[in-house]
Amino acid sequence: MDAEPPISRSFSTHLRGALNTCRAAWSHAAKLALDIALPTLCVACREPVDGEGVCAECWARLSFIAPPFCPRLGIPFVYDPGPDMLSMEAIASPPAYRRARAAVRYDDVARTLVHALKYQDRTDLAPAMGRWMARAGRELLESADVLVPVPLHWRRGWGRRYNQSGALARIIERQSGVKLASEALRRIRPTEQQIGLSRPQRASNVQGAFKVAPNRQSMIAGRRVVLIDDVLTSGATVDACARALLRAKAASVDVLVFARVVDSHKTPI
Ligand SMILES: [Zn+2]
Repeated sequence: MDAEPPISRSFSTHLRGALNTCRAAWSHAAKLALDIALPTLCVACREPVDGEGVCAECWARLSFIAPPFCPRLGIPFVYDPGPDMLSMEAIASPPAYRRARAAVRYDDVARTLVHALKYQDRTDLAPAMGRWMARAGRELLESADVLVPVPLHWRRGWGRRYNQSGALARIIERQSGVKLASEALRRIRPTEQQIGLSRPQRASNVQGAFKVAPNRQSMIAGRRVVLIDDVLTSGATVDACARALLRAKAASVDVLVFARVVDSHKTPI
């Protein structure tokens, strides 16, 4: 260490104090510069936001689904019809799955989130979306053995870098502790995009498109499965997946999605 220069102790103390002040100011400025360089942006409107996820304005525009809703399909009711009352849809065409739950209605902000996750590689959105799903699906997850994401066909997986349902399922696995079986369900033939198809066309488009691989059957047989997807529109895709899982002897299949179309006649995708 260098010897103390021959200057008065009080001057040296002053100098040291000033240096420390400078150092503190510098580190504060550097931290500030980093904050300015990497602001957190609202995932929906790209305005700077405190914390992660969406800004207060966009959060308020998301329609989180809360009771009362159909215990079978999770479709929100306008009025509470009393316990265990099913929706007309659930009575008219009961699905292969047991129950479905969604975090939000599929509207403008939800659509922005889903499209950014799906087509713009915004994997940073998955944690917030997955957490909202885990909360909406708590009842399903409490009694679940395994999570299965709706698979992409490999050709689409190739064009798109990853499976958005798989990304959401990984967050839900972390939140709930329910194990993920991402390879259990396979898409065995390519399907058309469901966009623009009528309800019967959607059903026939995905019929027989999914299968549990024989060497993965032990992951499914006797297990209570929660199937994970980003959006539920007509329910044709998750219904076809549920049938495949039930053929592989799943004890039950529930469905948990980020967003569901509540009125498919009025809300085209
Ligand atoms: Zn926003």
